[in-house]
This record gives sequence, C-alpha cells and structure tokens, in this order.
Amino acid sequence: MIPKNAALPIVTVSAEGARASAAQALKRGVEFYEMPVREIVNRCTNSRLPFEWTINPYRGCEFGCVYCYARYTHEFLELPDPMDFERRIFFKAGAARALAHALSAGRLDEGTIALGTATDPYQPAERRFKLTRSLLELFASACGLSLSVTTKSHLIVRDLELLRSISRRSTLTVNFSLITLNRRLQRILEPRAPRPALRLRALAVLSAAGIRCNLLVMPVIPGLTDREAALESLLKAARRAGAAQVWWRSLFLKPAAARRFFPFVREKLPELAQEIERLYGSRAYAPREYEQRFGETFGKLKLACGFADEPRRSPASQAAQPQRQFALFDKNLRGFDCRRAGSARPSA
Ligand code: SF4
Repeated sequence: MIPKNAALPIVTVSAEGARASAAQALKRGVEFYEMPVREIVNRCTNSRLPFEWTINPYRGCEFGCVYCYARYTHEFLELPDPMDFERRIFFKAGAARALAHALSAGRLDEGTIALGTATDPYQPAERRFKLTRSLLELFASACGLSLSVTTKSHLIVRDLELLRSISRRSTLTVNFSLITLNRRLQRILEPRAPRPALRLRALAVLSAAGIRCNLLVMPVIPGLTDREAALESLLKAARRAGAAQVWWRSLFLKPAAARRFFPFVREKLPELAQEIERLYGSRAYAPREYEQRFGETFGKLKLACGFADEPRRSPASQAAQPQRQFALFDKNLRGFDCRRAGSARPSA
C-alpha cells in the first residue's frame, strides 16, 4: 500500500534534463513517489555498526542488487513484492529542510552520521531530484561533524567540490561498495549499478582530491565472490586507486532479501544453489566457522595488498574531534578549515 499522503506517481517535471530522465525511468518501468517526511535523521543504536545516525534521502533503490538486505523497508509500506523495492522509488522532498532543523537543534553534535545505509544516495533518481546534493550543501555549511557516505555510483564525482568543502571542516569518509571486478558477474548481481571500472575511477578522483575513501566488500557471497585470487585483484585495484581501508561482511538473508535471492540463485546460478541452501536454508547469517575462516583469509589478504590492520570503528573516534558546534549558513566560515584550527568557529 502506498502511503495515503504520497503524491502518485510523479510524471511531470519542468527542467529539460529532468524531463528526459523521467521519460527514461518510465521506460525502465520505474515510478517515483513523493514521501513527506518530518525527520530525515534516524538514531542507530546497534553498537556493532560504526555510526550513530543514518540518513536515507530515498526509499527503494533502482540499482536492484539481488542480495540487497534493505528490501524489507518496502514491507513497511505494505509493498511485499521484493521487486517493488527497485521499481517504486520514494523520494523525501523535505529532506534538506528536516536536516537543517536537526543540525540547528544540535541533534547531531555527537556521533557519526552515515548517509546511504538502506538505499544508494547516488542511484539514478538523484540525477533528477538532487536530494543528496541538497544535504551535502548543508553539511558543507557546518563544522566538526563526522560523516560517511556510502555508494556504488560514480555520480558522486558530480559533488566533488562539496565533498572537499565538507572534508575541510569535518571528518568525512566515502565508502565505495564493490564486491567483484568480474563485469559479467557484477551485471547479474547488481543489474543497474555502475560497472566496477567506473566506481574505481570515482574512488581515484576523490582520493586524489584528498578525501578519505574506503572499499566495502559487502556482501561477500560464499562460494561465489569469496575466492582468494579474485579478492586479491579487487583489493589491489582499490588500493591502487587510493582506498585507505577495506572492510567486509558476509551475505545475510533476512526474509525479504531471501525471497529475492533464493529464486535468483536457482534460476541464474544453479550450480551454487545447493551451497546457498546449505548455508542459509535455516538461518539468516553465514555459520560462525565460515566467518572465522574467511575473516582470517581476508585479514591476511588485506595486509598483503597494502591495507593497515586496524579495527573498524566510528570515524568520529579516529580523529581528534574539535568541540562540535554548527555554523549553518554562516558565510564567514566559507573556506575556513575548522579541523586544522581546532575549533568549530573562528574567533571574532
Ligand atoms: S545499491 Fe545498495 S541499497 Fe541499492 S539495491 Fe544495491 S545493495 Fe540495495
């Protein structure tokens, strides 16, 4: 069920470029719906995750990765067909207004904010709605924040100057999600996501601009993307492009994700079906022995590929943070390097 107050669906837009992208989306069978929001920031209380706040300017994701764990978010809208997640995209038009409110109220004074945890903030809809960009504009006007952005898309390069501006005043990490360099495999696993070479190129551009970039190998799919030689090539390519760190997590299949993934494997990768059934047939997570074995292999591999051995933790705790204050809309702060100065505001 689409929310009662959603405007259904959006088909008319004014700007020429946006009109073209709307037409293409309709051709692809994708519909956009406006979702009214009062809050855009959600509190994350899971201490195993390296962030305290999450922001998702969209709900649903056109990239359509077959393993995507976030499909469950459409079930709250009473849209139980797993394909709705990638065909019915909700955009939160009031996202910037809500973020401005949260920032000026000091709600984000402490903790790391993760942008893009249940949807890709640079999915195709972003070309048209520019919601992620509107949020970055606000972050660029603030000081002393800890922010991470996670994406599979080279569209992020569009916002390079904003990202540079944020990284001068706050702690910023951009996470590029990439699980394989094999183009054929990537295309069936992530049908509408940018190809690996584009992601690596974007990572190189951002790294060269001084922005800390990490590689996320998530999810690692047992029996399919966990081969050592393939991972070594992936890690080396990311390191060459400038990735500072790499993290992994194995596949997990909550019911909404399993409803998409199991039929996919049976149809497209039948040789893998038995193994996936064995590992995930009665549980959502890979068995502990697999995690331990793979973790050891991956740990050695990342060291061999030039990555440091460091525990994963919140970027906020990695940097000595200045006192967190916000200087939203303060034009005097443009170009002021808050982190280097050790204070969120220049003294008067
Ligand atoms: S890019 Fe991320 S949010 Fe989008 S479908 Fe893929 S895994 Fe899900």
